[in-house]
Amino acid sequence: MKVIRVPGEMTAWAKEQAANGKNIGLVPTMGFFHEGHLSLMRMARTHAERVIVSLFVNPLQFGPNEDLAAYPRDFERDGRLAEQEGVDVLFAPSVDDMYPDGFQTTVSVSTITGHLCGANRPGHFDGVATVLTKLFHVTGADCAVFGEKDYQQLAVIRRMVTDLNADIEIIGHPIVRHKDGLAMSSRNAYLDAAERETALCLSGSIALARSKAEAGMTDTGELTRLVRDFILSFRGTEIDYASFVDCRTLEPAGRLDDNTLLALAVKINGRVRLIDNGLVLEDNESADEGWAE
Ligand code: AMP
Repeated sequence: MKVIRVPGEMTAWAKEQAANGKNIGLVPTMGFFHEGHLSLMRMARTHAERVIVSLFVNPLQFGPNEDLAAYPRDFERDGRLAEQEGVDVLFAPSVDDMYPDGFQTTVSVSTITGHLCGANRPGHFDGVATVLTKLFHVTGADCAVFGEKDYQQLAVIRRMVTDLNADIEIIGHPIVRHKDGLAMSSRNAYLDAAERETALCLSGSIALARSKAEAGMTDTGELTRLVRDFILSFRGTEIDYASFVDCRTLEPAGRLDDNTLLALAVKINGRVRLIDNGLVLEDNESADEGWAE
């Protein structure tokens, strides 16, 4: 596996591959790999002859009071894991190379970023859309794989690619979970043992909504109250949002239907913000990897 740090070198390598008729799959990440990231790398391999994993903790997508400085990092371990997955290039640029002096362009997607994380993290999706536009250009990727764990991010990127006629296929990957249901996340590293238990309120509330829906409850107002009460019954939880939305538009859902998604962002002990989501009516548990094994 090659490690490339300079954007120009990344582009030169990608052009050489394209000239040799090889198509390129990209997996954008912020590192501190877990099985979720590794599954995305495997999926990229099934779509592309060359796989690039980018590792860049993007300052543009962190708010002033967020965890940019504390974000977990372990470059050596990430390199070993990516290599074991047969990744061709680990692209790990510096902040200065991505945003040199004089940088002044922002890519901004509007309506779909107005909900959920977009409403709670001003500027977050501008940072995401801007860095991904750069990564798509630098790598010349034919396809890119994203996890449904960051459901809104996937929706925003699909919108951006359509709106800008970007010649890249966006591929979604189901959420990868620990056996007890917790969605894998680099931020789980912040949790102590008690908080790790508390974190089960997210996947637990998706399971709760599914069981109530199965029992015939279709009013999302009533379901929202149940889910909120459930989450708040865990010590130290604070709800950023717990919303039933249409999975295509992310607009609030009235009555449940096949497109209703429960999207969650919960802070634990004011420190660790976790997100999760799931379709309520579809038997999504079989689509999510690892749930209730
Ligand atoms: P991150 O490093 O957190 O920015 O994530 C990089 C990519 O991995 C994003 O597309 C995420 O949606 C995806 N990802 C993170 N956690 C999971 C998970 N538990 N299951 C599936 N995809 C994930």
